[in-house]
Amino acid sequence: MEECVFCKIVDGKIPSAKVYEDSKVISFLDILPANKGHCLVVPKKHAQNLLDMGEDDLIATMKAAKKVARALSLSFGNGSFNIVMNNGKEAGQVVNHAHIHLIPRFQKDRLRIKWSHLKYEENEMKEYAEKVKKFI
Ligand code: 5GP
Ligand code: ZN
Repeated sequence: MEECVFCKIVDGKIPSAKVYEDSKVISFLDILPANKGHCLVVPKKHAQNLLDMGEDDLIATMKAAKKVARALSLSFGNGSFNIVMNNGKEAGQVVNHAHIHLIPRFQKDRLRIKWSHLKYEENEMKEYAEKVKKFI
């Protein structure tokens, strides 16, 4: 994984503003934050995205995300934050090493994480649910 920027951060080959580290996970400030304090929570073992992650790394990463979210809230935050995980190109993933974004929110920030709502046609909702359920 010579070219992976997050593997390089995990290995200490490029610097980061680290806020948390344990044997499986590292968390550091995003270099181009959506709000100041925006953190990334990253499994140390390279995985392309959520589906590629092992269960243990997933559990460790989510636990670390909660720890960091709590610390953000207690330090300069107010208890409001978004957790975002981009998986795949169409979802906006740019760095292909799985990571969770933790973005502290403030009353008058300019960040918008909202979407317009679509409507299902008759029976379509049931059909979608059936399609998904087949693969669970
Ligand atoms: P993605 O769009 O893949 O979910 O988000 C990748 C994030 O990684 C971006 O928000 C970007 O600012 C951040 N990022 C990319 N390269 C670096 C880096 O070298 N250091 C840090 N701290 N963040 C990075
Ligand atoms: Zn990597």
